[in-house]
Amino acid sequence: MRVFNFSAGPAVLPESVLQQAAAEMLDWRGSGMSVMEMSHRGKEFISIAAKAEADLRTLLAIPANHKVLFLQGGAIGENAIVPMNLLGDRKSIDFINTGEWSKKTIKEAKRYAKVNVAASSEDRAFTYVPARETWQLDPDAAYVHVCTNETIGGVEYHWTPDTGDVPLVADMSSHLLSRPVDVARYGVIYGGAQKNMGPAGLTVVIVRDDLLDRALPICPSAFHWKEQAEAESMLNTPPTYAIYIAGLVFEWALAQGGLAAIERRNIAKANVLYDVLDASGFYASPVRREDRSRMNVPFKLRDDKLDASFLEGAKARGMIQLKGHRSVGGMRASIYNAMPIEGVRALAEYMRDFERSHG
Ligand SMILES: *Cc1c(COP(=O)(O)O)cnc(C)c1O
Repeated sequence: MRVFNFSAGPAVLPESVLQQAAAEMLDWRGSGMSVMEMSHRGKEFISIAAKAEADLRTLLAIPANHKVLFLQGGAIGENAIVPMNLLGDRKSIDFINTGEWSKKTIKEAKRYAKVNVAASSEDRAFTYVPARETWQLDPDAAYVHVCTNETIGGVEYHWTPDTGDVPLVADMSSHLLSRPVDVARYGVIYGGAQKNMGPAGLTVVIVRDDLLDRALPICPSAFHWKEQAEAESMLNTPPTYAIYIAGLVFEWALAQGGLAAIERRNIAKANVLYDVLDASGFYASPVRREDRSRMNVPFKLRDDKLDASFLEGAKARGMIQLKGHRSVGGMRASIYNAMPIEGVRALAEYMRDFERSHG
């Protein structure tokens, strides 16, 4: 029996995708091989990768002057790879610090450049996105980095920052494909696949082509965006099976009606949970209302001595991975695209029942 899996990542995948992968496991479409066994340079895999890229381009309406790279290293890898590719002859980078993932990104970038924290929400425990008017941007910065969905804190940008001529770079690991994005407003968008796109091992990088000339000489070839763009992400062996599964997820997302339709469903799903939180004195949502994430919903029980019994009861009803990140405690429900609304409704019903019996 499959559970309702609220893991923050690696996370739930569409059941139909897993079924298709199972059906194709031993023999991919008459090739007599599993996708895992294919040469990445063979015509079969080239067609799989090309279809995955084309579908991702359709989903996000990626402009022609943005390259799509399928790399490895994860978002934490990109925290080093981005400065190595974008610093050029600049000295410093602007960061907006909205939580745990921003902090990690800043720490890593300090190895390569001077770091300017242009705005931070640390003053209120990272529960909001600082308003654009408060950002102290440096016009000479190499780029401005934002994390548009803080997976741990549950804080999401519901607007696109304007950074003028300075390229905007976004870690979108945990909400890419959850809503339409105006890709043209970003210099670089990156994310690990294991939240909303597929299995761990694949990192998607979308980069505007005029930014491909700024890499530091020390940048490793495997992470050098220009070299990878010229090699169609095959300078080294790409994570072939992860690309294949992500490609099936992209097909699934298109069949769902694309990102506008998916966004409507995600809004409805998130509202189910936030309505329970707002109607209750037993649970609390720490995040400012207008900055609440639709993908990751952190919440606290008023009495944290009940946490263990809350988690146990959830498990008994087939709902798992609801424990909050150790840095913030409490609970967190991650409700990515592949979480059906039935799972969210089951959680909401359980939360109301638990409140009745323990409140
Ligand atoms: C999960 C996550 C990461 C880390 O991804 P790795 O694949 O472990 O490197 C970074 N940023 C955000 C926003 C995330 O959600």
